[in-house]
Amino acid sequence: MLTEAVPNESLQNEFNPLLSAEARFDEAAGRLGLDDGIQKVLRAPHMELTVHIPVQLDDGRLEVFTGYRVQHSIARGPSKGGIRFAPDVTLDEVRALASWMTWKCAVVNIPFGGGKGGVICDPMLLSPAELERITRRYIAQIFDFIGPQRDVPAPDMNTSAQTMAWIMDTYSMHARHTETGVVTGKPLDLGGSRGRPEATGRGCMIVTEQALRRFQLEPPETRVVIQGFGNVGGMAAKLMSRAGFKIVCIIEYDGAVYNPHGLDIIALQRHREHTGSIIGFAEAEEVDRDEALFLDCDVLLPAAKENVITSQNADRIRARILCEGANGPTTYAADSILADKKIFVIPDILANAGGVTVSYFEWVQDRQGFFWNEQLVNGRLEEIMVNSFRDVVSYAEKHNVNNRIAAYMLALDRVAFAIKLRGIYA
Ligand code: NAD
Repeated sequence: MLTEAVPNESLQNEFNPLLSAEARFDEAAGRLGLDDGIQKVLRAPHMELTVHIPVQLDDGRLEVFTGYRVQHSIARGPSKGGIRFAPDVTLDEVRALASWMTWKCAVVNIPFGGGKGGVICDPMLLSPAELERITRRYIAQIFDFIGPQRDVPAPDMNTSAQTMAWIMDTYSMHARHTETGVVTGKPLDLGGSRGRPEATGRGCMIVTEQALRRFQLEPPETRVVIQGFGNVGGMAAKLMSRAGFKIVCIIEYDGAVYNPHGLDIIALQRHREHTGSIIGFAEAEEVDRDEALFLDCDVLLPAAKENVITSQNADRIRARILCEGANGPTTYAADSILADKKIFVIPDILANAGGVTVSYFEWVQDRQGFFWNEQLVNGRLEEIMVNSFRDVVSYAEKHNVNNRIAAYMLALDRVAFAIKLRGIYA
């Protein structure tokens, strides 16, 4: 697979998410005619923090891990964004992800800025107790920078509701009172929101349904290929299959399964629970995981990782609609290729915004101490996703730009407007 080979320098640049984020920012800011000063403010993160985290490992050795927290913007509210644990976390990646959170929150018009955090570590090589100690010490070190009014973390790659519970507890111990609103994506019993685990996948389904209308397609005749069967991809598959979509292929890191009549997603999930893999599922054919991205389908939903659709393979995509469940699955260089092929792109900062939207609901509920039923959560999520889809697509049509640049323009405009209203405190 291309992304696993050692890329040359121009591909390395293409795969740098910060450069992709900046290129789209430049294009959107240029089209908006934003003045240079505001562009400088929007481009630079509000604050960046690097911490070195000493942790005692289970065998008694002392190790030091490096962690980051970047607050890209606080113009429209506290910064908001997940924390990921991965061996290849870089400051550039965290910066890019933090800026995407600013634009994402602005696209769905919720009162947050953007932030992101990451710790360089390999969760596969660490025990749950070691991960708990890393989490708690990392939070103790960034304690002064986070808080319900400042910066509100959430889960991201390799962090879970359990990690969020440790974050809530550590923060609360330092604050000397229980503070549930400091973090979202918590377990239901600790101030989590109903509907949060499903929210990102549900949001993907809602915007896909909106896009289908443009193609006069109904779910039962819509063939969907999903990459990633985790939180986002797994939930999207489950909800979409329940809504009648034909999920014809699921691609995972160790292989892909295909059934042209539609996979039985519940049975596939059960199979993976029993065997640890989607491979070997009786009611499907196994296909090459790299080639599966290029299957003839109506909707391609990448929900695994960054840099999947690139200048090297975008011309082979055969979907009519690309719904970006993952953050940054398409590189900047691939955008124009998809546009030439007239693929309808639902960009990540819109498509996967269901997660942060229900995180916002969780934060509101925690601060009110009053919790909503699932129907209310899902209804409010649907209203926001449908309105945001309409805003982005009509902006694209009005300004004759692609959906991604329209989403960036809409977001930049909203954040710039907030900065102008607040004024620059000097
Ligand atoms: P996850 O870890 O739950 O799921 C990712 C899945 O992708 C895993 O099953 C993994 O095995 C699979 N995968 C990894 N590499 C792969 C590869 N090369 N090919 C095929 N499959 C591969 O993570 P998640 O929370 O579902 O997040 C996925 C993406 O969605 C990330 O980009 C994340 O930043 C983004 N996202 C997540 C949320 C959320 O609420 N969880 C919200 C917005 C965006």
